[in-house]
Amino acid sequence: MSNAQAESHELNSPQARPVAPAAKPRVIPRAEHTISRSHISPNALRVLYRLKDAGFQAFLVGGCVRDLLLGLDPKDFDVATDALPDQVKRLFRNCRLVGRRFRLAHVFFGQEIIEVATFRAASAPSQGEEPLADADPEDGEAPELDEPEGDGGRDAAEEGASAPESAPTHSFARESHPSIDDDSERMFDETGRILRDNVYGTIDEDVWRRDFTANSLYYNIADFSIWDYVGGVEDIAAKRLRLIGDPQTRFREDPVRMLRAARFEAKLGFDIDPETAEPIGRLRELLGGVPPARLFDEMLKLFLAGHGARSLEVMRGRGLLQQLLPDVDAYLTAHSGGLVEQLLMKGLANTDARAVAGRPVTPTFLLALLLYGPIAEIIESLPPQRWHELSAIVEACDRAVRLAQAHLTIPRRFSLGLSEMFSLQPRLEHPSGRRALRLLTHPRFRAAYDLLLLRAELGLASPEMARWWTRVQEVPQEEQGNMADALAQSAGPRPERPRSGRRRRGGRRRPRAS
Ligand code: ATP
Ligand code: MG
Repeated sequence: MSNAQAESHELNSPQARPVAPAAKPRVIPRAEHTISRSHISPNALRVLYRLKDAGFQAFLVGGCVRDLLLGLDPKDFDVATDALPDQVKRLFRNCRLVGRRFRLAHVFFGQEIIEVATFRAASAPSQGEEPLADADPEDGEAPELDEPEGDGGRDAAEEGASAPESAPTHSFARESHPSIDDDSERMFDETGRILRDNVYGTIDEDVWRRDFTANSLYYNIADFSIWDYVGGVEDIAAKRLRLIGDPQTRFREDPVRMLRAARFEAKLGFDIDPETAEPIGRLRELLGGVPPARLFDEMLKLFLAGHGARSLEVMRGRGLLQQLLPDVDAYLTAHSGGLVEQLLMKGLANTDARAVAGRPVTPTFLLALLLYGPIAEIIESLPPQRWHELSAIVEACDRAVRLAQAHLTIPRRFSLGLSEMFSLQPRLEHPSGRRALRLLTHPRFRAAYDLLLLRAELGLASPEMARWWTRVQEVPQEEQGNMADALAQSAGPRPERPRSGRRRRGGRRRPRAS
């Protein structure tokens, strides 16, 4: 706490001048910016044009405009319009209204979803704010798809997205003693967090509810201009992350914005403006009031999107990891520069490389990396002869997961996978004859093998054994049997190995890598 306070003072700026959106936007004509329609998803263009042709305003907004200006490939394309959700629904057959607190339209094109949001009046948590409802509460019908393939991206979301919040929003709101702003449909809890907001508005009101200036630019399909109410274009050019409005108020309204700030700092290499950064040290504890399912989603966005290693540094530097995964943060602080930290950073770097190359990345492997330290610590608190016992490993995984669950929801399929990955380690390190070959078809083999490679690289498992498993996957089946036989013949007594490399049997300390 004191460290973080000192840090926040360093970041503090004496003159706080909140950014207020101008009454009129600065309109940047097509000739003066670099966004070309050839970089925009054809499906997003279809949606924009159909809205425009029906007489509505239609803009691309948010991260996609920011990324296009930065020359990056946007992850998704979001549309903002003055059409009401029901009007949007009438325009698109392949459209479904979602959202418990506020209605959004999802237009489906196979795997791609274009999210269409009606301009909203208040500063409110936005698109990413709530996990999607599984079904539209008002009409349970399945979406009609213009294009039959796929199911509108739910599959893609499945591995990454958390289970829907177990408690419905309204009961959460009641617990938090909310107050209702009588002039609107806004609802806040006692910390200033917005719980409900469903007030439609105009574009110049909509800009207030967005988080950072860089995320608040509108690309107008009517003339291909960019509308900038907040100096977002300059901030993007200067790689500066600034909250719109008073930073303290905006973080109180939605504490997840602190995690978003860290994410954009890591992902885009932006600097957080000192005024925006300053309250984080004081307000980060408010993350404790955010639904744990939402925190799990944010964690995946931080660590599985190709900038995980940098996210970890930023999260630690800003004292945010302490809120999200306190046991992980405490372990890393207590063993700074140690083998577990190296394993984590190396594993995150590997995961980043996979994500950037478009290869699959899994929450299970990420959790194994993050929880490695706490799991090792629990195992090492047992007598060394138990370190390889299956029951000890499973129990340590369960306990580490339970501790993490106090803050974020870890869906069961991921915690089970984590436990399997760790349980497979001793069996991979000490394969027993031909039976060991059955592990090759174990559903968790690949993840467990990747973890073994990483451990071997850091001297936490035998490099020869890791190489054996690499080779056995490359040779024909009969050769695999021969390899297993040869290994069984040459095998000596099973050595005991500590899991974090902190201590060997007999108390001899392994030299720290730092
Ligand atoms: P990414 O590249 O990760 O998709 P993004 O900026 O597009 O980044 P989204 O979560 O997709 O982020 O949200 C789209 C837009 O909605 C944001 O750019 C921002 O304008 C607004 N927004 C999202 N979440 C919030 C929030 N918690 N508070 C305020 N505005 C938000
Ligand atoms: Mg986005």
